[in-house]
Amino acid sequence: MNYTTSMHNKEIEQNISKCSRCGLCQGFCPIYEEIKNEKSTARGKLMQIFGLIKGDLKLNSKILNNLDLCLYCDKCKINCPSGVDTTRIFCLGKKLNLLGKILNSGFVFNLKLSTLSLLSLFKKTPKYKETSKILYFEGCIAKKLKNKFEIKGLKLKKGNFKCCALPYLTKGARATYEKIVKHNESIIENSQMVVFDCATCFNTVKNYPFKNPKNKEKLVFYTDFYKNIELIANKNITITYHLPCHLKSSGINIEEIESILKSIKNIKYVKMENAEDCCGFGGDFFIRHPKIAFNISMKKAKNILKTKADYILTSCPTCLWSLKFSIFINKLINKKIKIPKALDMNTFINNYCKITIEKQPKINQDVNMYELLV
Ligand code: SF4
Ligand code: SF4
Repeated sequence: MNYTTSMHNKEIEQNISKCSRCGLCQGFCPIYEEIKNEKSTARGKLMQIFGLIKGDLKLNSKILNNLDLCLYCDKCKINCPSGVDTTRIFCLGKKLNLLGKILNSGFVFNLKLSTLSLLSLFKKTPKYKETSKILYFEGCIAKKLKNKFEIKGLKLKKGNFKCCALPYLTKGARATYEKIVKHNESIIENSQMVVFDCATCFNTVKNYPFKNPKNKEKLVFYTDFYKNIELIANKNITITYHLPCHLKSSGINIEEIESILKSIKNIKYVKMENAEDCCGFGGDFFIRHPKIAFNISMKKAKNILKTKADYILTSCPTCLWSLKFSIFINKLINKKIKIPKALDMNTFINNYCKITIEKQPKINQDVNMYELLV
């Protein structure tokens, strides 16, 4: 049985040949930290994929399981000294399996998300000003929860985007992935700027194989809106922050977020130990490997609780679920502990902070944030 589609074998081989087998990726892999199995690290996966392509290895359930043990957190990729695009290889290497075929039909994904949409019954719908200068990329979870994205009263116009396509990419549903990329790029092409509030969507779209490379420059994460402006919290609050893996791999580091949070008046920011460690959720990883996901999420919760913060903030809806879940479990185990409220960072700023504009910061060459906010 082949593992890969031969179409991508050459690209995979070229990428794998860049791997010096130094093993540095092992030290960054949350899966390795949990199960101490080299075969599940990036190096281990790459070697197995290479063996499958060359025909030296035959695909069996053990190899499939090793390759499946991945949170797609990109930690191996961003820390690889040889620049091996590890997670791309893991995705390219996937032969379209049954799940990929079902995903190609959109059935499972839509089913899961329609369950989520039930939760939207409990959401309120606030009022907004409208602007058409920039587009908002609404991720699937935000869409199904009918979350409204706003920046202090500014409603960004939603672009007619489809899913960022990461679920298709990671399941080997390559044809669907490419169709979605084409559709989404055509909308980005006709916009001035696209704003994201989900780290995973942002990172996925940033890594699209764009036909027009300039389109990549139009992508912005919402935190850029909060630079160079004054934020004042309406009460004294202690906060901490979990950096989503995909925010880090998209190029936004913890210091950048911290500089915004620390600048908010009346806020005390407490840095969490290992704030950049994965939350353990990994898309549907927590369903496929619940024990590993649970153990990783409990480590995260332990570090959150140590901060004694009132709020734990983050910038990814799936991380937010994971944090809420692990904190809730800790409360069940010990009813006496004080637990923080888990909240999306933008929601926190909108709900608890006043904003004053000091300067007229430009987000990129064309768009002036001040014009957008007044
Ligand atoms: S993937 Fe990168 S970090 Fe891992 S062994 Fe290969 S060269 Fe080293
Ligand atoms: S993407 Fe994350 S979980 Fe997957 S191999 Fe790399 S470091 Fe490990």
